[in-house]
Amino acid sequence: MRPFTFIAPKTAQEALTAAGENSHYLGGGTNLIDLMKEDVERPTHLIEVADLEYQDITKTSNGGYLLGAMKSNSETANHPDIRKNYPLLSMAMLSAATAQIRNMATNGGNLLQRTRCPYFYEISMPCNKREPGTGCGALKGLNGNHAIFGWSQSCVATNPSDMCVALAALEAKVHVQQPDGAKREIPFADFHRLPGDEPEKDNTLQKGELITEIELPKPKYTKHYYYLKIRERSSYAFAMTSVAAGLVVKSGVITDAALAMGAVAHKPWKLTKAEAFLTGKKPSGENFAKAAEIAMQDAKPLEHNAYKIEMGKKAIVRSLTQAFERKA
Ligand SMILES: Cc1cc2nc3c(=O)[nH]c(=O)nc-3n(C[C@H](O)[C@H](O)[C@H](O)COP(=O)(O)OP(=O)(O)OC[C@H]3O[C@@H](n4cnc5c(N)ncnc54)[C@H](O)[C@@H]3O)c2cc1C
Ligand code: SF4
Repeated sequence: MRPFTFIAPKTAQEALTAAGENSHYLGGGTNLIDLMKEDVERPTHLIEVADLEYQDITKTSNGGYLLGAMKSNSETANHPDIRKNYPLLSMAMLSAATAQIRNMATNGGNLLQRTRCPYFYEISMPCNKREPGTGCGALKGLNGNHAIFGWSQSCVATNPSDMCVALAALEAKVHVQQPDGAKREIPFADFHRLPGDEPEKDNTLQKGELITEIELPKPKYTKHYYYLKIRERSSYAFAMTSVAAGLVVKSGVITDAALAMGAVAHKPWKLTKAEAFLTGKKPSGENFAKAAEIAMQDAKPLEHNAYKIEMGKKAIVRSLTQAFERKA
């Protein structure tokens, strides 16, 4: 590991003021420290943020909730208000990693965890995300767990987060603060980016911005929800494909649908066309299968990941079925 300096400021404003050219905020360190050990990330200055304010889960005036960015994934997923009002988020978060990692990981850090593309982690391999201009090792290489949506010739990586799939489905907002103290809110759909010609940029944060809170809209999917994660083993494994599904069903008709996929694109992949199709329909196997067909229409597989299309369709049908049949 390369040498770096470290500070632990007492307030968010102090942390923001300390941010500089090659500094990184440090949450639980469960991703950043690994990347530094592998020489993939090379910050010269670390600013610890895990103990700053923004540790709470509070209700907003419009009936939604604010999740503190510094709160741990475990405390967030197990919080009684989150379990009751956003069980889809809780389920997705609890499917991630292991209890030990969830205890360390912060909500802000989870949103910014980097791809698990093996070429990104191996510094002897070409990777445009790690080192722009060197090429993409995965494009014609081992791309079995890479993107089927929204990829470019520059990068075919996926976003690995489970929490973010549920946040995309729920249409959360990310609250950030800038070094000069100004604040802004970013709709979740605009927070992560597609790779395009600049795969080194995972998200739309600007230099030095600190994530302070995540805003959830008024709860809707408290009865019919399901997070399905397909992975190679049940612990310590990232998704091969995942689906977050929420339904509101009134008098036998779907009045609202939330649907997003994970591990299929550079960002959590919201299935807006499938959501629109489901709204106003009966919750039936036939309609769930049609929604899955619509969702996968634009998929473009790479050499080794065409299996994700069939797997994705089955995962969508299964998660919608489980969501509908769930007895809350
Ligand atoms: C073995 C293993 C298995 C895993 N399995 C899964 C899994 O199945 N599903 C899953 O979703 N995740 C999984 N993870 C990833 C884990 O969820 C992330 O590492 C974790 O959420 C990152 O949070 P952190 O607080 O530790 O972030 P850190 O590692 O501290 O930081 C990550 C990035 O976020 C930045 N950052 C942190 N906080 C802020 C902030 N408030 N504002 C701005 N920037 C900030 C840092 O500068 C850094 O760039 C796994 C990790 C490991 C090690
Ligand atoms: S897919 Fe992206 S992260 Fe992986 S090697 Fe290509 S450029 Fe790097």
